[in-house]
Amino acid sequence: MKTLGAAELSHILQAISQRIISERDYLCELDGLIGDADHGIAMADGFAAISDALQTLDTSTATLTDVFNTSAKSFLNAVGASSGPLYATALMRAGKYLKGETGLALEDSPQLFIWLAEGIQARGKAEAGEKTMLDSWLPAAEAASQHGGDIVATLNAVKAAAQTGAESTKAMLAGKGRAARLGERSVGHIDPGAASAAIMIEVWVDELLRFAE
Ligand code: ADP
Ligand code: MG
Repeated sequence: MKTLGAAELSHILQAISQRIISERDYLCELDGLIGDADHGIAMADGFAAISDALQTLDTSTATLTDVFNTSAKSFLNAVGASSGPLYATALMRAGKYLKGETGLALEDSPQLFIWLAEGIQARGKAEAGEKTMLDSWLPAAEAASQHGGDIVATLNAVKAAAQTGAESTKAMLAGKGRAARLGERSVGHIDPGAASAAIMIEVWVDELLRFAE
């Protein structure tokens, strides 16, 4: 069975970084409609910092926990917006669960989405339906929890759930974050945090599927 080690995890996070950086303007546009137009900057800066830090981390000796903790610290230091502590906590949480492990079996990789969602919720205290990044992360985690043995099917379900979840935020009234101040005017636009989450999850899944081949 294939096992993810520090090098594979670092590769995945760097692939996410590249894609998020390329979506910077799109994410700022979304945030411009219901927030303060900085979400693309926050995510791009945060992931650029992750990528820089991971490039100097020696993955031949680092653990999965080291990769997650290094990423969390870099993201937090680079991001002033509310997504900073939310993702830093998510990454730390995954690192905590993997403490002492030398690797993560590909079969168990859906668990990552559950841990990350848990960290975001622990930090931000939002519930499903409040038009936040959790409306992508919670459906993804739910799909991951349904893992019945077919890893490819589960990973595809995780990706699809995040995409559907992000789209579903369009009809929602914001209950948390900056957009909540808009009340009814927040309805009709996709939540930027949910959009970036779906992109992250898409790349994460695609990289895991490539690894599964
Ligand atoms: P800021 O609102 O500080 O400018 P960003 O623009 O980086 O931060 O991120 C905005 C996104 O953060 C929102 O679109 C939403 O998805 C997410 N968000 C805000 N508050 C919370 C929360 N309490 N829990 C989860 N996600 C949240
Ligand atoms: Mg913002």
